[in-house]
Amino acid sequence: MIPLRPNIAAMKGYVPGYQPPDIASWIKLNTNENPYPPSPEVVKAILEELGPDGAGLRIYPSASSQKLREVAGELYGFDPSWIIMANGSDEVLNNLIRAFAAEGEEVGYVNPSYSYYGTLAEVQGAVVRTFGLTDDFRIAGFPERYEGKIFFLTTPNAPLGPSFPLDYIDELARRCAGMLVLDETYAEFAESSALELVRKHENVVVTRTLSKSYSLAGMRLGLAIARPEVIAALDKIRDHYNLDRLAQAACIAALKDQAYFADCCRRICETREWFTHELRGIGYNVIPSQGNFVFAAPPDRHGKRVYEGLYARKILVRLLSDPLLAHGLRISIGTRGEMERTLAAITEIG
Ligand SMILES: *Cc1c(COP(=O)(O)O)cnc(C)c1O
Repeated sequence: MIPLRPNIAAMKGYVPGYQPPDIASWIKLNTNENPYPPSPEVVKAILEELGPDGAGLRIYPSASSQKLREVAGELYGFDPSWIIMANGSDEVLNNLIRAFAAEGEEVGYVNPSYSYYGTLAEVQGAVVRTFGLTDDFRIAGFPERYEGKIFFLTTPNAPLGPSFPLDYIDELARRCAGMLVLDETYAEFAESSALELVRKHENVVVTRTLSKSYSLAGMRLGLAIARPEVIAALDKIRDHYNLDRLAQAACIAALKDQAYFADCCRRICETREWFTHELRGIGYNVIPSQGNFVFAAPPDRHGKRVYEGLYARKILVRLLSDPLLAHGLRISIGTRGEMERTLAAITEIG
């Protein structure tokens, strides 16, 4: 027997969405990736960083990713001291738990949302507590004073789609004795963001990612925005070279090409609205979404049946393991063409 920590031995580990090896033969709508390529400026910047013979890779990258903090700071309207860059927002979620929740202390989040928070908390040996949602999309049974060390709120919520209203998030920030982390992975597809609450409450952190809205899931780029004291703590914890040179070059180029970014987001939101309308037309229940995905349930509320029908037609969507969500599917928004083919397949499956 190897001397594993008991919490590691006991945990199951996170199961990410399936990445098929023969990816080109699928319509892949299961992990909320962006169907469009990243900005052409990103490709140019990566090639330039690499250099003709790859010599750019010989030297360590900037440890602080300072230039990226400046570009992101300008974009979001914050001093760079309020920003930390991460190797995917998953990295900063992990470091937030390491900074604020010791072994045996509580970490909370909404179920359903992103179950990876729970996995990260289990690694830390923290206690996980989840809260359900009410019919009017509020957190069920959230205490007047929540004493957990961190509460993660995914807004817009994934896998369901709606955002929480700003005044409600503001109230949650006041009710949290610990940190309130707003996971705004999908904010760029939404009508509103809670970013301004970072200035108002010292316990609020907002996380963003370039994985979805900037088409850079494969580069691993995320960030957090919070008070400088929080950022300084996270800087002590992270791997010192957490972003490689190519990722840093890609990030700067992507954030600077706002015109390309805005056009991709607009197209995805238009397709989302069209697809929602069409699915409803064939009797599906579709929750209004502020993300680049929809949660949709067929009339017979048998998600697995439709999942399997789509799978047989090489269309991959997400069937979530939570029994609460077995009645539906989370379907990422692809190109208009991909969604037309998906709709035709769903209609055929019946
Ligand atoms: C995709 C996703 C993440 C992870 O983003 P990365 O930046 O790719 O690590 C975090 N939170 C939610 C809710 C997500 O859907």
